[in-house]
Amino acid sequence: MSKGIAILGATGSIGTSTLRVVDRQQDRFRIVALTAFGAAEKLRQRGRETGAGFLGLVNAEPSWAKSAVDGRVHGTGTESLVEAATHPDVEIVVNAVVGAAGLEATLAALAAGKRVALANKETLVMAGDLVMAAARDGGGEIVPVDSEHSAVLQCITGRPTVDVSRLILTASGGPFRGWDPTRVATATVDEALEHPTWRMGPKISIDSATLVNKALEVIEAHYLFGLGYDAIDVVVHPQSIVHGFVEFVDGSILAQMGYPSMELPILYAMTHPERVADVGVKRFDPVAAGDLTFEPIRQDVFAAFALGVAAGRAGASAPAVFNAANEVAVQAFLDKRISFGQIAGVIDSALQAHRGDPAEDLETLLGVDRWARETAEAACC
Ligand code: NDP
Ligand code: MG
Repeated sequence: MSKGIAILGATGSIGTSTLRVVDRQQDRFRIVALTAFGAAEKLRQRGRETGAGFLGLVNAEPSWAKSAVDGRVHGTGTESLVEAATHPDVEIVVNAVVGAAGLEATLAALAAGKRVALANKETLVMAGDLVMAAARDGGGEIVPVDSEHSAVLQCITGRPTVDVSRLILTASGGPFRGWDPTRVATATVDEALEHPTWRMGPKISIDSATLVNKALEVIEAHYLFGLGYDAIDVVVHPQSIVHGFVEFVDGSILAQMGYPSMELPILYAMTHPERVADVGVKRFDPVAAGDLTFEPIRQDVFAAFALGVAAGRAGASAPAVFNAANEVAVQAFLDKRISFGQIAGVIDSALQAHRGDPAEDLETLLGVDRWARETAEAACC
């Protein structure tokens, strides 16, 4: 019997890769629900192609709800994310929404006992304790889609967690890896969107250029694998072949490798701990891959990385402030209201003004998120 899948963010980069993976695994998975933010026509077409019974459009025209055909249901607003995520025929929710907007659907899916294949890392950064508690209490589980965290999971699966002493996440270094600091500060939007090894949506592409993405991933790893920040390192690896290393207590290191493609971590998040045959993933050739190199992060050039890790260490609601301020700063940069070099300063101003509220419940966190957005927005003027 095939498993029912909901894809939140089905019109984006991860959503599209997930549809390709599911298309190759039709005996295992079937699409039940798809959502998008505003791309109505693309969503409608994907609904027709996959036979999804539920299509949720967050930012919908009034006509959307009435335009469903062939027994299909058209949901609207943010509730449609929760509706898709808790649909009774869904067993696996692939959360590929970008930003904090994915949080409530993740919590609802976990409370309903679903597996959440999580690409939406902002959810864990904003509310890691709440999300992990929802997984424990609701009987659901979180399996990472992010390639570095998938790598770690693949290395530790079947081994006692007490044997793990350190994680080393790899970073491509982004498009500005070797650049002069003054040139980085004035980089254009087009330059920042030109990632050397991955093709991704605009927000994560900018996060990869500032290395905020790697700070988000350090915090994500902290919550997913329960390790302290001293046990999570990052190394720049421009070829993006090694996706992550795990060091065990005896000093032995395991790594997971492969050509950069999100389709393998997406498939693994759906089948973990099992592996299934997939002809769509390009087989690795070590000779063709050539040299694999590693270097430290230039923290003086990519200041936002250290801000993010410090926010992770500070804990409570500091990561939520970091995440919200970054979302605002990235949008302001994409809108050409601030320069690339100002992104870290906008994030820092929100973190500096933050009073350190606790992160005990969803309402408090959503309040912190709103406050951080307003504070960061003011710093963009
Ligand atoms: P994209 O921008 O390509 O896609 C985002 C998707 O989310 C679209 O379907 C979009 O709908 C929808 N969406 C956007 N805003 C909202 C909102 N406010 N509410 C509901 N839905 C919304 O992003 P990516 O696929 O690149 O990234 C998605 C997530 O996965 C991010 O958290 C990212 O960090 C993470 N990730 C991505 C990787 C990649 O390779 N792309 C790798 C690892 C992690 P619409 O099309 O209608 O706007
Ligand atoms: Mg990643």
